[in-house]
Amino acid sequence: RGEGVHIYDNQDRAYIDALAGLWCVNVGYGRAEIAEAIERQARTLPYYHAFASMGTEAPARLADRVKRMAPSNMSKVFFGLSGSDANDTQVKLVWYYNNLLGRPQKKKIIARHRAYHGVTVVAASLGGLPVLHNAFDLPLGPMLHTTTPHHYWNAPEGMSEADFSRQLAQDLDDLIQKEGPDTVAAFIAEPVMGAGGVIVPPENYFEEIQKVLKKHDVLLIADEVICGFGRLGKTFGSEVFGIEPDLMSVAKGITSGYVPLSACLVSEKVWQVLVEKSGALGVFGHGYTYSAHPVSCAAAMANLDILEREGLVEAAAKTGAYMQERLRAVFAGQPMVGEVRGVGMIAAVEFVQDPAGKKAFDPALKVAVRVADKALDHGLITRALPNSDAVGFSPPLMVSEAEIDQIVESLGLALNEVRDELVREKVAIA
Ligand code: PLP
Repeated sequence: RGEGVHIYDNQDRAYIDALAGLWCVNVGYGRAEIAEAIERQARTLPYYHAFASMGTEAPARLADRVKRMAPSNMSKVFFGLSGSDANDTQVKLVWYYNNLLGRPQKKKIIARHRAYHGVTVVAASLGGLPVLHNAFDLPLGPMLHTTTPHHYWNAPEGMSEADFSRQLAQDLDDLIQKEGPDTVAAFIAEPVMGAGGVIVPPENYFEEIQKVLKKHDVLLIADEVICGFGRLGKTFGSEVFGIEPDLMSVAKGITSGYVPLSACLVSEKVWQVLVEKSGALGVFGHGYTYSAHPVSCAAAMANLDILEREGLVEAAAKTGAYMQERLRAVFAGQPMVGEVRGVGMIAAVEFVQDPAGKKAFDPALKVAVRVADKALDHGLITRALPNSDAVGFSPPLMVSEAEIDQIVESLGLALNEVRDELVREKVAIA
């Protein structure tokens, strides 16, 4: 069972869920109000589809509400059930859009190495993690990848964040020029890369990137699946970094994971092309049986009521700043800690063998996995992030400062135990 920020196991032992499930339980566990909204909708009208101009009340109200929360250029909302299917839908929208505009060759989508956008064939292709590609014959041809905006690992020694951002924009420009600007349709990015290692973009990154996208008439898809609905201390991550997306994917925090729901937000610019030109190509042949599911949308309405009534976006900014400060104060500069990073209510602590020499641990030592395992013994749920020797934090947004203190303390105990273990194994730790 779950209550607040806590999960209880089958022995009734409490754990602080410092990852909010999979970065999604933004309002915390045990919210009767959401359960009641689900029940009410299930009793009134459990299901009706959204095809052929049919529709039900809950998704209509939710679409209107989400649109009012989103950047002002967002015009329409398409509901799905997962972040993966939202990103799939975005790619189809982009391809359809360019076909309508008579640019059938403008189809390639650029993502970043280490990105995570889901696991369907298209979403995994957008992702930049080898585990999503190896043994699946992916990525698909039209999906390309550019440099990860990870200052700690990817910037040349001594380069400022701002200069690194200019270099990353140049990398993107070079890739678009090489492929041919008339073949590149869209760029997709998480405001903060989550599963790929909680990678916060360097200073001015999106400003520089957006100049390149505008120059080549390339659409921008913001994958707000983790960052949306308060995670970074603003309603959307795009607000934090000055991102002006043409399309936005959301999921997770829209229902706090109580039931599945995702959405593609479509800007007026893209929508107008669909409206004016789709007559020529025929109907947008897309939609799932469970698109705009009334039960999911009723849950989302109750979830957003809580988010607004309790001021959880503002709380995420305030308590998130405390979490960032505490993690840095306790762990930055310590042996085995390479970097403490994050913004708002998302953070990571990355482990290295030699912080001064920036020498990574041998991946076979699985340091982050061990730390996460030990943390569990101290009542803390965190997670070793794939492709990075780091553990991640994204607690429910109503976490208290006292609970943040417990997270930091448990992580410290776990880290000390792993350090002792490595010393016993004769691993040299600088
Ligand atoms: N996009 C991002 C940024 C995500 O973090 C995730 C999942 O973690 C997804 C997309 C995929 O969402 P789902 O697992 O609901 O398909």
